[in-house]
This record gives sequence, C-alpha cells and structure tokens, in this order.
Amino acid sequence: MAESKKLKHVQGFEKLFAQIKPLMSSSEAYYESSRCLFCYDAPCTLACPTGIDIPLFIRQINNGNLTGAAKTIYESNYLGNTCGKVCPTEVLCEGACVFTKLNIQAIDIGRLQNFATNEAILTDQKFFNAADFNGKSIAVIGAGPAGIACACELRSAGYNVDIYEVRSNPSGLALYGVAPYKITNNEALMEVDFLQKQFGFEIFYNKHIASKKDLEKLEVKYDAVFLGIGLGKTADLKIKGEDKTNCVGATEFIEQIKTKPIKQEIAKAVIVLGGGNTAMDAASESARLGTEKVIVAYRRSESEMRAYEFEFELAKVTGVSGMFNVAPIEIVGQNAAEGVRFIRTETVNGKLRNIPGSEFILDCDFVIKATGQQKHTSMIAAISGIDMDTSGRILINPNTGQTTNPKYFAGGDATNGGAEVVNAVEEGKIAGKGIHAFLSTSQ
Ligand code: SF4
Repeated sequence: MAESKKLKHVQGFEKLFAQIKPLMSSSEAYYESSRCLFCYDAPCTLACPTGIDIPLFIRQINNGNLTGAAKTIYESNYLGNTCGKVCPTEVLCEGACVFTKLNIQAIDIGRLQNFATNEAILTDQKFFNAADFNGKSIAVIGAGPAGIACACELRSAGYNVDIYEVRSNPSGLALYGVAPYKITNNEALMEVDFLQKQFGFEIFYNKHIASKKDLEKLEVKYDAVFLGIGLGKTADLKIKGEDKTNCVGATEFIEQIKTKPIKQEIAKAVIVLGGGNTAMDAASESARLGTEKVIVAYRRSESEMRAYEFEFELAKVTGVSGMFNVAPIEIVGQNAAEGVRFIRTETVNGKLRNIPGSEFILDCDFVIKATGQQKHTSMIAAISGIDMDTSGRILINPNTGQTTNPKYFAGGDATNGGAEVVNAVEEGKIAGKGIHAFLSTSQ
C-alpha cells in the first residue's frame, strides 16, 4: 500500500516535470536526420565545447547505424547522453546550425544525440576498454561531470582511478542541480553506470575530503590528484532576514525537488532573487509545482540578465513573471518569510544605484535566492601552493588543467566559476590528458 501511494506521487512528479526534450521515435529521428545538410565546415561542431563530429553522427543515424552514431558522440564527450539533454543547445550547436542563420528551425541536435546514446546505454554497448595498468594511481575528488570525464580519460591510459564523492550518488550538478524537466535522475545515473562498467574506475561515496590531513593522505597514496569539486552552497545575500525558515538557496531548492520530491510543499507566492539560468530553473520548478504566483526579481534590467533568453521564455510559459531594477534589502516576516523589501534601482553613467525613497514590500510565502554559489575556498586554501583568482576560482593552465601545485589538477565549476556540464566534461578530459603528459615526462 505504502509503495503504491509512493508510486502515485512519483507518477505525479513525472507529469509535473515532463521532459522538455523527450526521446525521439525512430521515425522522428530518421526525418530529422534527413534535414541535415552535412555541412563541410560544420559550424555546429565548432560551437560544441567537446567538438563532437555532429554531421557524422547525424549521417550515421540517417543510415541506421545507431551504434556508430553513439560511438562518434562518446569518443568526443563521455557524457554524451546527459549533455544532449542538459546542454543549452539553443546557444551552442543548434544556435550555430546554418538553418538558424536562415531563420529556419535548427536541426534538433540535442535530441538526435540522445536518440543514439540512449540506445547505446539501454543495449549496454561497449565502446571503451581500460588500458593495462601502468603502475600509477590518481585520486579524483568529486564524481561530477569533470571528475567522471577525467577518470575515463585516465583509465584509457592505464591509470588506477579512485573517485571520492561527498554525496551518495554520482553526476554532481547533472543529478542535483539541473531542473528535473531537463533530465531525470535515472538518466543521469544510468550514463555513469554505463561508463563505470567500461572503464572500471572506483567511486567511494559519502567521502568528504576537505581537511589538510585528508588531502595529505591522498598526496602520499596517489601520483596526482584531480579536483572536480564544483561549487558549494548558495552564497549569502548578506541582508537582514535571510535566515528565515522559508528563504532558501536555489541550488538547495532544486536539489530538494530532485531528491525528496514527495515532501515538497507548495507555496502560494514565490519570489526568486536573481537573473541567471539557475533563477529561471528554480522559478519554472516552483510554477510547475503549482505555485500561483512566481516572480523573478532582478536588480538590473531584463536585457542585462545573465540567463539565456530561451530560459526566461521557458519560465514565462509556465507562468513566471519578471520584475526588474529592484534590489532586495530585507526578507521581512516573523519566523518565516512573508515578503521581500526591495529598493528600486537605475543605471547612471554605467553604474547601478539605488533610488532613494523607492522602497516597497512585495508579499510572498517563499523566497529563493539564486544569486550565485560559494567557492570551496577553505578547502583549496588547505592545499599548499594552489593559487586562486580574486573570485576564488582555482587557477589552472587551460591546456593541461594543472594548478600551481604540480601534483594537483582541476577542472569544471571550481575553475570556471560555474559554466555548463559540457564545459566541465571537456575540462575533465583536458586534465586527464594533462595528468598523463605530466606523469609520463616528470618521473
Ligand atoms: Fe547539419 Fe546544421 Fe550542423 Fe549543418 S550546421 S551539419 S545542417 S546540424
């Protein structure tokens, strides 16, 4: 009984968060792949951070060679399925597609990518083998996209790879931080399992490596360490009242929906503070859960939002509205948030300033802060010789991923400050090659 009740909730959850990029049927994939012009200069491939040979895999789909298509994708991008679903294809490959320039619907590259890779995962295709053990071992901290890609690359070169993950599941942002209507948890987990079976890297879950002592142990045990640690909790706004019970960080909110959806309570009015893609995800999710009024409040103008235009459009379709040139100065209420006190802003001589006397309170019963995430600066500071920039990002050689401490390499959000999953995959791959080059020449 309890199980069937739970199932009903889960089915409801899946309906609320129906995939915005559902799996294509065979006939859809055949039709869509027929539209591709197989451009010789492939602007779509040039726009892909992992450089997938897009015309080639589309042609392979069109010829009925799904295994070949998936192999083409995975040879460039170890998380080809996840990226097909969560990439902002509208501004990457599909944005660069020649059809977009002609104002014609771009080839649906993301969904074609999913069509081929999904089949490979479901039929357990084997594209890779780990090379014979070369006698060296690498520790990877973080089982997110950068850590997984780095591990695959290293196993291909014969390294023993142990991944230490603080959470109880892999995939990092793809599992915990991407909106549930973009990818299901099952899809994210299945791809890591598919890779793990081929490459044979170990993942040790619930292992929090953060102290100097933990890191020193790894330094003794391993020949190199890769930091794929991502970002931390949502940064504080440093305004009065932000500690109230129903004032939460956007990434924590998204994580809760993805990991404990059944317990999610529905607010009547939500204010989302911020203007980035995470703000749009959190706002869309609130609206899809049934919140009557969801407002994204941003301190600058609409055109200055960091969110992709299509992300805001997607949020608006679910009923989200925007309020611009307003800065939060206090979360008001007794124990729980009952509203946000804002002040209006304007840009004068290129500088944003508050307009004196323009304060007002907007009522709500839930506040989501989508104003960036903290960096793991204290952990990084525990490693001797690693430099960070003024924003707390780990400084690396972009061609090798090596940090200023030669034994440590890094990639993903901890180095780029927060970019796409596909960027993390590419940076993990680069660091894997960088570690191999370093250990092949230095010892
Ligand atoms: Fe096909 Fe568009 Fe890429 Fe040309 S740019 S190869 S049409 S997907």
